[in-house]
Amino acid sequence: MVVVMKTLNIIPLPYAYEELEPVISKQIMELHHDKHYAAYVNAANMALEKTEKNREVMRDFSFNYNGAKMHEVFFANMRKARENNLPEGNISEMINSNFGSFENFQKEFSLAASSVEGSGWAVLWKDEDNILSIGQLEKHNLLGLNGMKPILVLDVWEHAYYLDYLNNRAEYVKGWWQVVNWDDVEQRFK
Ligand code: FE
Repeated sequence: MVVVMKTLNIIPLPYAYEELEPVISKQIMELHHDKHYAAYVNAANMALEKTEKNREVMRDFSFNYNGAKMHEVFFANMRKARENNLPEGNISEMINSNFGSFENFQKEFSLAASSVEGSGWAVLWKDEDNILSIGQLEKHNLLGLNGMKPILVLDVWEHAYYLDYLNNRAEYVKGWWQVVNWDDVEQRFK
């Protein structure tokens, strides 16, 4: 359930303080409304303000934490360039069985990388049943992806290639295949 919280106002009594006398005295009503009830309203508003700040902190944390985690994988996913840099073993078999062939996988992953809108990532995910899938991440947003483990990631934020390739992202993606560390991908797949 999503609870939308708004700042509360102290709502005035719809009658005079003394109007409930003699059942409830004016004095009680004044204390009850102006002190006790008002205290709840004020404390609730203060708590709400804190919650909102907290949400900002959480967003900030999640953005930077996920950004850090994605870069951990990204840097480990690479090694010195090799010609004919192809996966072997388990990961090669899994790629073939999930995508038909390595060429097919490469084409789809490259397409995912080239078509990320703005800043983001192309990702090869492994799910809990070891099924592989290709996806995109906007910025570093990993929310809602529980159970999905990134095993091969490509940073296509402009900062990742602009100095080398200017705005030619496709050329960067093409070159990147030579530096993929398939041993690391295999380790992450296990
Ligand atoms: Fe980056």
